[in-house]
Amino acid sequence: MKKFLFLLAILFSFGITAQNTYLHCGKLIDTKNGKVLTNKTIVVSGKTILSIQDGFVTPENSEDIVIDLKDKTVMPGLIDMHVHIEGELSPKRYIEPFTLNDADVAFNAQNYAKTTLMAGFTTVRDLGGSGVNISLRNAINQHKVVGPRILTAEKAIGTTGGHADPTNGRSKALMGDPGPKEGVINSVDDARKAVRQRYKNGADMIKITATGGVLSVAKSGQNPQFTIEEIKAICDTAKDYGMHVAAHAHGDEGIQRAILGGVKTIEHGTLMSEETMALMIKHDVYYVPTITAGKSVEAKAKIKGFFPEIIVPKALAIGPKIQDTFGKAYAKGVNIAFGTDAGVFDHGENGKEFGYMVEAGMPAIETIQSATITNAKVLELDNLGQIAVGFLADIVATDEDPTQNIHTMETIVFVMKEGKVYKQ
Ligand SMILES: [Zn+2]
Repeated sequence: MKKFLFLLAILFSFGITAQNTYLHCGKLIDTKNGKVLTNKTIVVSGKTILSIQDGFVTPENSEDIVIDLKDKTVMPGLIDMHVHIEGELSPKRYIEPFTLNDADVAFNAQNYAKTTLMAGFTTVRDLGGSGVNISLRNAINQHKVVGPRILTAEKAIGTTGGHADPTNGRSKALMGDPGPKEGVINSVDDARKAVRQRYKNGADMIKITATGGVLSVAKSGQNPQFTIEEIKAICDTAKDYGMHVAAHAHGDEGIQRAILGGVKTIEHGTLMSEETMALMIKHDVYYVPTITAGKSVEAKAKIKGFFPEIIVPKALAIGPKIQDTFGKAYAKGVNIAFGTDAGVFDHGENGKEFGYMVEAGMPAIETIQSATITNAKVLELDNLGQIAVGFLADIVATDEDPTQNIHTMETIVFVMKEGKVYKQ
């Protein structure tokens, strides 16, 4: 009998009286149907959504918690397809590889991760750093550090002198000869090895720099930097390991090679032609615009001494064009995945992208769908991007209805990730 009572006590403490959370939502965004619903209760049990009920339901169990979001607009946790969680742009960026140790990078990065989560982004795709991003992802998953769920490319792959060559602009004595291990390739064999090395290091997906870029110490921001055979080898090898490929690309030729080589997403896409937009649609490739980053580098280029001289003309030429390209691509029907390139601007300001997308012609509700249901689909995260029964309880809220005022997305007032409240 004593034994039975003891077992009963254990059952009670673990299962039967499990505390549920009732969220009373004045407005609730249905990302599947693109609608704003009113007066709903979301019941969260553990990490997942147990039910969604009409009206404001009072829990029967006195242990349960009610969170009043009656004057808020509630939506699924936001997903950013393009961040660099390890760093943040500053005039010191170009000497940091010589002054910071991995531990310094890690301490900085955990702050960026927390800031990102507090801005409502409960999941991010990290598109390249030094490798500290892998440890940060693991530490967040193990609840040692607060931050969004991270899927990371570890170190981006480039070619010698290309946008992701980590030794560009250095004196020859410090240049060395980085290879596939460091993410620099120059052949099909190198390409395969670099992908397999990323897999070995723990990457979730692959990032390539298909063309020149703004922030590398190199002349062109748009030249194609891989052969199509190299891109194909990268994409085919990545597929073997269950990874997709994201391609940074500004110039049209490099964008086309990336699409034909088999990448899943085009990042920035600045100088994309109409013909290339049609190719994106044909090959079901998603466009990740990163308008906020474009505007940020343009503004920083006007501050004397912020960037090395070689970067200034590139930032001024490429930065302001992205929003216009996005508007045209959206109008043409290219698939849009929400992504900002946070790290090129301050982490936590990711929400500005929504306003820029609306400015360029995308309806507010569709910008929110791109940052939730669409991004979850691209990342094959089947239990995220919607507020639905059985989905993970990643839930955020704004003061205003974003379909009335999109800038409310810049101030997220409530954040729950996997059923745990981080901001209220
Ligand atoms: Zn980037």
